[in-house]
Amino acid sequence: MKFCSPLIDRDLKTWLESLSTLKDHHAFCQHAYRTRKSEQMRDLKERSGTASASSLGSMKHQFANLRHCIGRLADHIRAPMQLIGDSRALERIFDNFEVKPTPFIVSVNRPVLKRSLSLNGIVRRMLKEDDKGLEPLQQALNSLDAKLKIFEEVQKRYECKTFVPRVHAEIQVLEHFYDQSLEFAYDDRYIACSKPACYCCRLYFRNHPGRPVEPGTHGKIWLNWGPPRSVCDTKTPAGKHQEAIMNKMLDVIRGDVRRDIENRHPKKEWHADSHTGITESVDIDGCQTDDDISYDGFSSSEEGEYFL
Ligand SMILES: [Zn+2]
Repeated sequence: MKFCSPLIDRDLKTWLESLSTLKDHHAFCQHAYRTRKSEQMRDLKERSGTASASSLGSMKHQFANLRHCIGRLADHIRAPMQLIGDSRALERIFDNFEVKPTPFIVSVNRPVLKRSLSLNGIVRRMLKEDDKGLEPLQQALNSLDAKLKIFEEVQKRYECKTFVPRVHAEIQVLEHFYDQSLEFAYDDRYIACSKPACYCCRLYFRNHPGRPVEPGTHGKIWLNWGPPRSVCDTKTPAGKHQEAIMNKMLDVIRGDVRRDIENRHPKKEWHADSHTGITESVDIDGCQTDDDISYDGFSSSEEGEYFL
C-alpha cells in the first residue's frame, strides 16, 4: 500500500490498540471525538483511498469502515454539543415541546416466492406489452446473472427466515402527520432523521401528496423496505392513498432498474448509510469526504443492502 511505512503502521497499531482498552462507552466516544482530526484518522482516510476504488471486503474497505465507525462514535459527543449550541438560536422551539411516540404503522407481509418466478418473467412484468426493448433487456439481465447469480440471490432473499418488511421511521412520522392533518412547525415540512433516507424513502417522500421536503439520501436499497399495510386494500381511502404513491414510485424504480441492467453494472461498492460525521476541514488532501461519495452499481453489498 502506497502510504504504508513500518513507522506509520506501528503508530496506527498502537493507537488502535489504545482504543480497544477503553471499556467505558462514554470515554470511548470522548476519545473518538478528541482524535477525530488526528494524524491517525488522516492515515485511515489515506488508506481508505478513493471510495470508487474500495470494494467490499478489501483492505481499503476495512479502513474506510473503521474510520466511519470511529466517526460515528465521535458523533455521540458532537451532535448533543451542536444541539445545545443551536438551541440558543431556536429558543422558541426548545422552550415549549413534548416528545411523543407516533402510532406504529405495520408493513405489508413478506412476499411469497412463486414457483413460476423467472428472470425473464420479472423483466416482462417491468415493461409494457409492446416494449421493443424486452428481448435485449432479458439478454442483458441473463448475462449479468451468469456473472453475479442474481436469480439465485433473489430466491435466497425470498426464503430468508429473518426477512420481515418494515415501514421506515421517517415514513411512520410522515404518515402520522398526514393522517392527523398535523401542522409542521413554522410550516417547515421537513422530517429530520438521524441518517439520510434510503432510495425508497426518498421516492416515497417525493411522491407523497403531503408535499414534505425531499430528504437527502445515501441511495441504498434496503430489501426489507415495506409500504404501510393499508396498501393491500385499495378500496379504502388509506389504500388508495398508498396505491397512488406506490404507482409513482414504481415508474421511477422500473426506469432506474432498466438503466442499470442496460449499463450492466457488475460492481460491488460499499459506502456507509450514515455520515461519518467528520467535517470537510480534515480533508487536507482534496479527496472526497464520505458525504460526497456516490456509487453506481447493480448488486448487493452488505446483508439486504443494494445500490441503484
Ligand atoms: Zn428508508
